[in-house]
Amino acid sequence: MRSCVIHAAKDLRIETQPDPVIGAGGVVVRVRAGGICGSDLHYFQDGRIGDFVIREPFVPGHEFCGEVVETGAAVTRVKAGDRVAIHPGRACGRCAYCREGQPNLCQAIYFMGSASRFPHMQGGFREMVAVEEEQCYPITADIPFGEIAFAEPLSVALHAGQRAGNLVGKRVLVSGAGPIGQLVLLAARRAGCGHVTVTDILDHPLAIAQAGGADAVVNVAAGDAGVAAAGAAIGGFDVAFEVSGFPAALNTVIEAVRPGATIVLVGSPPAGLSPVLANRIMTRELTLRGAFRFGHEFADAVSCLQSRRIDVRPLLSRTVPMTEAVAAFAAARDRAHNIKVIVAF
Ligand SMILES: [Zn+2]
Ligand SMILES: [Zn+2]
Repeated sequence: MRSCVIHAAKDLRIETQPDPVIGAGGVVVRVRAGGICGSDLHYFQDGRIGDFVIREPFVPGHEFCGEVVETGAAVTRVKAGDRVAIHPGRACGRCAYCREGQPNLCQAIYFMGSASRFPHMQGGFREMVAVEEEQCYPITADIPFGEIAFAEPLSVALHAGQRAGNLVGKRVLVSGAGPIGQLVLLAARRAGCGHVTVTDILDHPLAIAQAGGADAVVNVAAGDAGVAAAGAAIGGFDVAFEVSGFPAALNTVIEAVRPGATIVLVGSPPAGLSPVLANRIMTRELTLRGAFRFGHEFADAVSCLQSRRIDVRPLLSRTVPMTEAVAAFAAARDRAHNIKVIVAF
């Protein structure tokens, strides 16, 4: 079978690898669609993301789905021919975090498409992949694979919403209108928020956000003064999601929210120290929370996608065949024109 393999920065090759082998609890999935995520882009562009450096040939991809082709003897929940979304993480299930419902904090989690460990945890950008039964979520409706590939990033957005607490009637700020920012907007709308403002430095994602239900959009390319003004116009932001990962954007958010607000950090800030307006956090009693990956939101994400209660079609900008994976990664970098690029296998 063929795989997308990153050897180093800007060195992605389509290579033949042996077909996967499974044990009794394993499932072989014929991958059909995979979304390119910001972390995949970093691995491709820089050969690393933060402290995680590619040290051996690495298959990226953690947003993928497909069809079951083979199951181990002990597998009962799925069978050959089933269309499945794949949860890319396998938490240990035994540690205190797993037992207390926070599997995303499991220190022993195996998360596909991540070079955080060595040997690397290989991802799903290949024609066939071996997963465990519990990672497979059967799709009951006839929804295209390109939409089902949003299950992972939508889970991230739903988890960020959970971290913010009750959003009913809240005035929300979303800083950054990439794929996760767009999905946070849709998740916040579903959670009953009262008003959403979305910011970005590009017009195209802001137009998509507006079509997706944003009440206000602010282009911050030329400065962030418009953010505080947009907040003042509605009486202040109660909740903010910082999705861009830029420390400067976090400080814009810290300045823009009302006293007592909650700020959820969803985007990855750079490794190491980030300058932050700590004094404002203290004097205005802001609550700053991290949101890392997701826990039990995956099933909800799959349900929302297959019912189209959350409709991601406007976010699916392009579908590119795996043989043109390098072009797909270039398209995914082009934020001025594309939100989510899907690789078809
Ligand atoms: Zn992702
Ligand atoms: Zn665990």
